Amino acid sequence: MAKPVVKKEYTLGERIYLLEILKGMALTWRHFVFNVKASFRPEPHTVPTCWQYPEDRTREISPIFRGLHMLCLDEKGREKCIACGTCAKTCPAHCITVKKGKRKEGEEDKYASKMYCASFDIDLLHCIFCGFCQEACPKEAIVLGREFELAQYTREECHLDKQKLLANYRKAKEEGKLRPPRKAVPVVKPPPKPEAGAPKTTEGKAGKPAVAGKAKKGQVEVKKAAEKAKGAGKAESGD
Ligand code: SF4
Ligand code: SF4
Repeated sequence: MAKPVVKKEYTLGERIYLLEILKGMALTWRHFVFNVKASFRPEPHTVPTCWQYPEDRTREISPIFRGLHMLCLDEKGREKCIACGTCAKTCPAHCITVKKGKRKEGEEDKYASKMYCASFDIDLLHCIFCGFCQEACPKEAIVLGREFELAQYTREECHLDKQKLLANYRKAKEEGKLRPPRKAVPVVKPPPKPEAGAPKTTEGKAGKPAVAGKAKKGQVEVKKAAEKAKGAGKAESGD
């Protein structure tokens, strides 16, 4: 709905302009003095409005930041991925390719499940870092980490294979940059359906009669009035 525009009533001081200009200049001066003072502070935050990146890398990254992908290992160091392909199906950019492999005997310490990904490729040039793959993964095997410096010189370097993805996980673990495990989302159960044959309540909210009941009452009144008018019309035509 359109919002009506209320015309502002200006005070005398605002209509003169000069006072408002002086107020604006005072604000600019205050910021100038603040910045000059701040530029004499010790490094690295010399200017308060700017982070001196890349010299200063102390800025905290948001816990929900989505950076470079990694393939996670479980607490026993085994690959979590079961090659179900859900991430590839969910990816809106179609940049994930997964190939299945079957675990052989004696490989139980390498792969957590009977099926594992023989190859896992991500084309970072297509990826939009939406995080859908991470959300869809049933095993929390693929995670978008906190690494954000992704510039490369060649296209090939923007291609992540399984070894690179596992290396990203190991690097993040060494640097203590692994995300904490996600909290389980509580499942809200729908209210139970009324049993078949149970009497339907006509009560509305807070014990008030339901709207349908009101409508019915109104309909009856209209019908009575129409009948009355009809009777009156007949009487007139009889005269
Ligand atoms: S972050 Fe999004 S676009 Fe990138 S691989 Fe995952 S699902 Fe695909
Ligand atoms: S990363 Fe997760 S969703 Fe993707 S194939 Fe592996 S287990 Fe499935």
